[in-house]
Amino acid sequence: MRDVTQVLVIGGGPAGSTAAGLLARQGVQVTLLEKDVFPRYHIGESILPSCRPIFELLGVWDKVESHGFQPKGGAYFSWGPDEWEVKFSELGDDGANAWQVVRADFDKILLDHSRELGVEVQEGVTVKEIEFTGDRPAAAQWTRGDDSGRLAFDYLIDASGRRGVMATKYLKARRFHNVFRNVATWSYWKNAKPLEKGPAGAITVASVPDGWFWSIPLHDGTTSVGLVTGRDTFNRKRAELGGIEEVYHAALAQCPIVADLLTDAERTTGMRTEQDYSYTSETFHGPGYLLCGDAACFLDPLLSTGVHLATYSAMLAAASIGSVLRGEVTEDEARAFFDGVYRGAYERLLVLVSVFYESYRGKEYHFYNAQRLSAEDRDQLNLQASFDRIITGIADLKDASDIYRRVRQHLGGEQSGDANPLANLNKEHELRATPISADRAVGGLYLVHEPQLGLRRA
Ligand SMILES: Cc1cc2nc3c(=O)[nH]c(=O)nc-3n(C[C@H](O)[C@H](O)[C@H](O)COP(=O)(O)OP(=O)(O)OC[C@H]3O[C@@H](n4cnc5c(N)ncnc54)[C@H](O)[C@@H]3O)c2cc1C
Repeated sequence: MRDVTQVLVIGGGPAGSTAAGLLARQGVQVTLLEKDVFPRYHIGESILPSCRPIFELLGVWDKVESHGFQPKGGAYFSWGPDEWEVKFSELGDDGANAWQVVRADFDKILLDHSRELGVEVQEGVTVKEIEFTGDRPAAAQWTRGDDSGRLAFDYLIDASGRRGVMATKYLKARRFHNVFRNVATWSYWKNAKPLEKGPAGAITVASVPDGWFWSIPLHDGTTSVGLVTGRDTFNRKRAELGGIEEVYHAALAQCPIVADLLTDAERTTGMRTEQDYSYTSETFHGPGYLLCGDAACFLDPLLSTGVHLATYSAMLAAASIGSVLRGEVTEDEARAFFDGVYRGAYERLLVLVSVFYESYRGKEYHFYNAQRLSAEDRDQLNLQASFDRIITGIADLKDASDIYRRVRQHLGGEQSGDANPLANLNKEHELRATPISADRAVGGLYLVHEPQLGLRRA
C-alpha cells in the first residue's frame, strides 16, 4: 500500500466510492480504505431516482441497471386513513430509474467501479487514528489484521458512515435530533406476496398506531420488512412483551396490508435493530477535510433519502476538492460551498420528513405528534432559510403552492388539519435545487460537469 496519497477516503459505502470515483475521473490520486471485505451486509435498500444523474456522471449506471435489481416504480403509502401512490413514471422519468437493491451487491458494484476508475481501494483495512498538523488532518494510522501502517494525505474525505470517525472521535460534533428518536427493527422474508396496489416493485410504507412499516421486495426473492417506532415505546413494549421479535410481530398484527403480504411467507433471518439514528454533525468540513453521507448526518428513513444524500454529498465533495487541487477556487470558498449546499439539502429533507409525519391524521397517537420539530430544532436548524430553499427547489412543480402552504403552517407551529397526505411530497428532487448555474450560486460558486466535475465562480 502507498504511504502518501493526494486524497484519502475513509469508507467504501455509496458515499466513499462515489466521492473516490468522481475524483479519480478528474485525474486525482485517491486511496480508499474500507474496514470490511465486500460484499458485506448493509441496510438501506430502497433507492431514489435522484441517484441516476450521479451514477451517470460516475459511469456506473449501466452496471447497476444490468445487475438485475428489482426495478422500483415508486412508492405506495397507507398512512392512517389515507392511501396514495407515487409513480416515478409520472415525474417524467423514462423507465426504471430506481431500484430496490441488495446492498451487499450494490455497494460492491460501486466500490469495484471506483477501483476500475483508478482508485487504490484497500479492503479489510481500518483507520484507527488520524494525525493532525494543527487542526488539519495529515495522516492516518491503519491496521489490517496484524499488519499496520501510516498513510499521509493532502485531503481527507470521511465517508465512514454511522461510525463517523472525524465527527465522533475528533470533532465531538455529532448531535442527535430531538425529533425522530426512533428505533428500526427489521427482518427478511421469503415467499411474500407482491403488493397488488401501487406501481410495480414499489416500497410499501404503512402506518400503525406506534409507527410505520416498510416492505421492500428484492430481486433475490426476499422481502425486507421493517418497523420504525419511537424509542420509548419500543423499550416499554420490549419489556412488556418479552423481546424485539415480540414487538415486531405485535405491530405486524396491527398492519393488515403488510401482514397480508406475509400470509404464506417465512422469515429467513433474525431481527436487526438500529436506534437513535437521526443526527447531524455541527460541522461538515474543516481545514483539509469534508464529511460525506452518514459520517456527516442521517435522517429518519421515512422517505428513503440515505443513499441519495450519501451520493449527492460525495458529488459535492469531489467537485470541491477537484477544483481546489486545480487551483480554480480556494479551499475556504470550496468548503463554504460544500457546507451551504449539503446542509441545505439535508435540512430541506429534514423538514419534509417532519411535515410528512405531521400530515398523519390520527393525531391521537403519540408517535406522530412526537415527530414534530420542536421550537429548539427549528431555531438550531435555521429553518426559515431551509424553508426558502424548499420553495426554490419545488418552484417548478405544479403543486408547489400547496406544499408551500403546508410547510409554512408546519414551521409556524400550526396544525394543518388537511386531508391530503402530501401525495406529492417526495417529488421533491435535490437536483432541482442544486446550484448548476451562475444565478443559483452558493457562496459565489456553482457546480459544473463540463469539461469535468468542478466548481466555477459566478
Ligand atoms: C433502518 C434504516 C433504514 C434505511 N433505509 C434506507 C432506504 O430504504 N434507502 C436509503 O437510501 N437509505 C436508507 N437508509 C440509510 C442508508 O443505510 C445510509 O444512509 C447509507 O448507507 C449511507 O451511505 P454511506 O456511504 O454514508 O455509509 P455506509 O454505507 O455505512 O458506509 C460506510 C463504510 O465505512 C466503513 N468504515 C467505517 N469505519 C471505518 C474505519 N475506521 N476505517 C475504514 N472503514 C470504515 C464501513 O465499514 C462502511 O462500509 C436506512 C438506514 C436505516 C438505519
